[in-house]
Amino acid sequence: MTEGKVPNGFGAAIDFGAGDQSASTSTATSTTATAPTTARLLILGSGPAGLTAAIYAARAGLAPIVIGGYAPGGQLMLTSEVENFPGFPDGIDGPDLMAKMRAQAERFGSTMVDQDVDRVDLSAQPLRVWSARREFQAEAIIVATGASALWLGLESETRLRGRGVSACATCDGFFFKGQEVVVVGGGDTALEEALFLTRFATKVHLVHRRDSFRASKIMISRVEAHPNIQLHMNREVVEVLGERSTEAVLLRDTTGSLSTPERLAVGGLFVAIGHKPNTALLGGALPVDAAGYLQLESDTTASQIDGVFIAGDVHDHRYRQAVTAAGDGCRAALDAERWLAERDASRS
Ligand code: NDP
Repeated sequence: MTEGKVPNGFGAAIDFGAGDQSASTSTATSTTATAPTTARLLILGSGPAGLTAAIYAARAGLAPIVIGGYAPGGQLMLTSEVENFPGFPDGIDGPDLMAKMRAQAERFGSTMVDQDVDRVDLSAQPLRVWSARREFQAEAIIVATGASALWLGLESETRLRGRGVSACATCDGFFFKGQEVVVVGGGDTALEEALFLTRFATKVHLVHRRDSFRASKIMISRVEAHPNIQLHMNREVVEVLGERSTEAVLLRDTTGSLSTPERLAVGGLFVAIGHKPNTALLGGALPVDAAGYLQLESDTTASQIDGVFIAGDVHDHRYRQAVTAAGDGCRAALDAERWLAERDASRS
């Protein structure tokens, strides 16, 4: 993988904004094979939570190692224009925002490791993390692994993933120039993706299983006013048709008033139905709630395990915003810094 690029399902790449990074005054060692394996603080995840934690921890002199995944940058890498992150009155593309955060974290001495975490052992000090057959050790860890896109669970959806089926309009929208596409979902993500896709597609069909959206009012107004977006309420996709590429979808009426599915000829299907928290790498080491999100112990970012802190979407299913994740990353870094200072004091 080219550094600064993230592959997507169509064999193309998302620009991670390497230009922005090279403009930084980075003092950090960079990626992967040559990176150190011990630090006072390890940060798992490289979305807004992980990178904000890295900025704060690095400025506190902790020289954190960020194990950020093979596709670093988190969900904002899959987002088009971000209009509500403070400080960018004209909006900013998600990947550009993440490149700026990464450059800022590196500038103060964070080390970036662009690999996935395979497993952890949080049962004793030092805390241990394995990634690409290497063991990393630290006294404290911040878990900021975020959440991943959900899929409909259809066999045809899996078969045609990367052949017209996608969960990322920003990455793949360009490939659908001049075609009709479907977006599934009724939240802000789906409506944002539908609007974004109108830049390329001749028509965007927005399919939602209920008769009302859960998205914000401003997004609903924009979608309803758009001449190239057609709403299909009370409908769900039950099959994606096509052998080698997506040719159509079958829509079922969720109210039951239409007994036969409708066929909609489209070249692409964008699934935007929410996310699931990325906790599998923890192997059950930390408690989760009914929806699988990590649970905090108190009003700090501390987990049940001494020295382990939690930040961002991996625990937050209420707000799930870049700015709240960033705020959380700040809190986790401050909590970890204080915990390490108390640990030093108790040992001296
Ligand atoms: P949400 O959970 O808000 O919405 C998911 C949508 O998908 C719902 O409408 C849901 O339907 C539908 N859905 C879920 N499962 C299925 C299924 N199996 N089949 C069909 N439809 C399904 O997720 P989002 O990703 O949209 O948003 C997550 C959070 O991020 C929200 O808080 C949102 O406000 C925020 N966000 C903010 C943005 C911004 O501020 N720029 C941009 C994008 C997201 P139903 O409604 O019936 O449950």
